[in-house]
Amino acid sequence: MATVGDMNVRRLLPLRLRRSIGAWCFVDHYGPMSVDGVGVGSTGAMAVPPHPHIGLQTVTWLFAGNVLHRDSLGSEQMIRPGQLNLMTSGRGIAHAEESPAHRDPQLHGVQLWVALPDASRFTAPAFEHHAQLPFMGSDGFKITVFMGCLTGTCSPATTFSHLVGAQLVASRDVNTHLSVNPDFEHAVFVADGAARVAGAELTPGALMYLPTGRLGIPMAAPMGTTLLLLGGVPLGEPLLMWWNFVARTPHEMTAAVADWRDGKFGEVGGYVGEPLKAPPLRADLLVRRDRG
Ligand code: MN
Repeated sequence: MATVGDMNVRRLLPLRLRRSIGAWCFVDHYGPMSVDGVGVGSTGAMAVPPHPHIGLQTVTWLFAGNVLHRDSLGSEQMIRPGQLNLMTSGRGIAHAEESPAHRDPQLHGVQLWVALPDASRFTAPAFEHHAQLPFMGSDGFKITVFMGCLTGTCSPATTFSHLVGAQLVASRDVNTHLSVNPDFEHAVFVADGAARVAGAELTPGALMYLPTGRLGIPMAAPMGTTLLLLGGVPLGEPLLMWWNFVARTPHEMTAAVADWRDGKFGEVGGYVGEPLKAPPLRADLLVRRDRG
């Protein structure tokens, strides 16, 4: 478990020996939790103050509840289950995410990061919201593709490498062999329920890694189970990840910290409260390298 503000999160990626899966380099799974501020164990709300990003895309996907996004481009966007908020930091952006004042009592979702490949990581910052995403039925799964492509069904979201991000919901008891791109490595995890995936029992908090070369993934899950499938062509680039930055060199990291301190990422309007301060930059964090 890790914490983000008041929230406990299941940090499924990066792992010590597996830094990325395709270009996916960060997976936090949170909830379901009460955010009505009154229930036992209620956190009150999600409240992630303004903070900067470089070198990545943030992918916000909800299973329940609602979250309000604001960024330094002036974007302000509510997101609900089944919708995608995609923020491309490129060379630099700042954002805040919080529970809106009028909100659903439960919150359940994931915060995912996609590393930008070297050729694209200084692209202009951008934000997009997709209220409608393509979905398909497959052997009892309702599959929504929110990033990239799965068996010819493609999300309209902007991507910078060949990848997939999809939600699978079992609309009945499912026992199937899900076709996947053999050029991709994949991660599968359960958001709600339990499933048997490629011979292993999965419950929330576990992430299964599947290397390239597979034409399909055996999956069995009772009705109501929700899974996420993430995958992509192995990035093949060493990533330097620290705090909210994905870079390649220690110098880029220290420059980003200085730029945030000096206000060069721009302001996030509308958030009540102080922006996050970067933690002290530790020397040992700057020599860690991608081993995945
Ligand atoms: Mn963020």
